[in-house]
Amino acid sequence: DLLISQTAAGEVVERPASVLKELLENAIDAGATAVQIALEEGGVKLIRIADDGCGIDRDQLALAPTRHATSKIASLEDLERVATMGFRGEALASIAAVARITLTSRAAGAPHAWRLAGEPGAAPEPAALIAGTVVEMRDLYYNTPARRKFLKAEGTEFAHCAEAVKRIALAHPGIAFTLTHNGRVSLQLPRADARRRAAAILGDDFLADAREVAAAAGPLRLSGIAALPAHARARGDAQYCYVNGRFVRDKVLAHALREAYQDMLHGSRYPAYCLFLELDPAAVDVNVHPAKTEVRFRDSRAIHQFVYHAVNKALSAPLG
Ligand code: ADP
Ligand code: MG
Repeated sequence: DLLISQTAAGEVVERPASVLKELLENAIDAGATAVQIALEEGGVKLIRIADDGCGIDRDQLALAPTRHATSKIASLEDLERVATMGFRGEALASIAAVARITLTSRAAGAPHAWRLAGEPGAAPEPAALIAGTVVEMRDLYYNTPARRKFLKAEGTEFAHCAEAVKRIALAHPGIAFTLTHNGRVSLQLPRADARRRAAAILGDDFLADAREVAAAAGPLRLSGIAALPAHARARGDAQYCYVNGRFVRDKVLAHALREAYQDMLHGSRYPAYCLFLELDPAAVDVNVHPAKTEVRFRDSRAIHQFVYHAVNKALSAPLG
């Protein structure tokens, strides 16, 4: 059973950044407005996330790290139209199978917080916390040394973690984020609007030659920023696509964007964008991979056309 849970965990918990992503999504699902992230040794030794979200009550806390414990879906029908980031109830269980986790949380209205440490099944104990939830993950893969060997150097794992924070922070400009690594502040993002958040993460030059994208066709909507910065820094590392709030890597979208940019890339210009596609959740399958950066559209041709035209039109417009 331990082996099964550790194997299943491998799907979700590839590296520290995948743990971080799951924990950040939980904080967002909890309605947090400020999230503090502390990492040590690239996130392998410690990932600590404090949020000011709704918290977890005592009974739910005891269940949270068990498989398929989710407060987010009540039926199969919900699963089809999932609005929250998490919905499988697998993340905390998977993380608990390969690392030591501690949850401290105070539900709104509770007289004090509760803390659940160590093995799943342990009983919550009273704790001190003003509000929200603190999740601590220590010693990733302490019990699976073979996996630990596949982790990269501290700097590489940290870079993946920082990227995970940026992806989420771009989609949630109304949430403040702080990221520290080995005690040093690495990223400090106050609450902002989408433009200022993009500039804070992608650099001011990202906005220097940027067009607002705002298109709708039936149930499809595309919003965000499409830019043509002159600096190579933007090559590849400033291309962010989201589907219903989730960061995705998708061939259909990438192709539509490549085509939309094709005519515009004269001189030394680079495609840089941060785009949010919204559509009926039933029109897209997010279950392709547990890490959930892949999606499958039911009607990919319609998506391709819509995105191509929306971005091409935005790029053709004069700067504004
Ligand atoms: P999922 O997000 O798919 O429901 P998880 O394993 O990530 O599954 O989390 C299990 C449950 O623990 C969640 O459904 C939620 O009820 C609770 N939970 C986890 N993290 C938080 C948090 N930061 N704030 C509030 N509740 C949380
Ligand atoms: Mg989750």
